[in-house]
Amino acid sequence: MERNTRQRIAIREAIEVARRPLLPQEVLDQAQSLAPGLGIATVYRNLKALVDDGTLAVVQLPGENPRYEPVSRRHHHHFQCRRCQRVFDVHACPGDLSRLAPPGFSVEDHDLTLYGCCADCAGQAATPTPACDDAHAHGHGHDSCG
Ligand SMILES: [Zn+2]
Ligand SMILES: [Zn+2]
Repeated sequence: MERNTRQRIAIREAIEVARRPLLPQEVLDQAQSLAPGLGIATVYRNLKALVDDGTLAVVQLPGENPRYEPVSRRHHHHFQCRRCQRVFDVHACPGDLSRLAPPGFSVEDHDLTLYGCCADCAGQAATPTPACDDAHAHGHGHDSCG
C-alpha cells in the first residue's frame, strides 16, 4: 500500500477508535503505532484534508486548540477535564432547549460542554499509590521498604 494512503488510514483509525475528540498530538501518538515514521506535519495535513472532504468535524472549545472527531458520530456533547485537559464524549442530552431562548427566537441546534474532573484524575486524587508498593510491583527492590 502506498505510504501516504497508509498514513491517512492510520490517522482515521486513531480518531475512530478514540471515542473522544483528539488533538493533533494525540492523533500522532495513537497513529504512530499503525504508521511508523508518521510526523506531526503529515498529521496536520491529513486532518485538514479529512475535514475538507467531510470525514472529520472540528471540535473547537474556547481558548483550546482544535480537536477532531468523526462527522458520523451522532449528536453528543463533550466533557473537558480541568486537570488533564482531555475532552471526552458525553452521550446524554438535555433535549429541547427552546425554553432557554428569548421569546420569539427559534432554536435550531445546541452545543454543550461540561467541565470538571475525569474519572482518571478523580481516582488519582482519591487513592494515591503508596511509593513502596509501586516500586515492588515493578520489581525494583528498595531495601528501605522492607
Ligand atoms: Zn482528567
Ligand atoms: Zn444535545
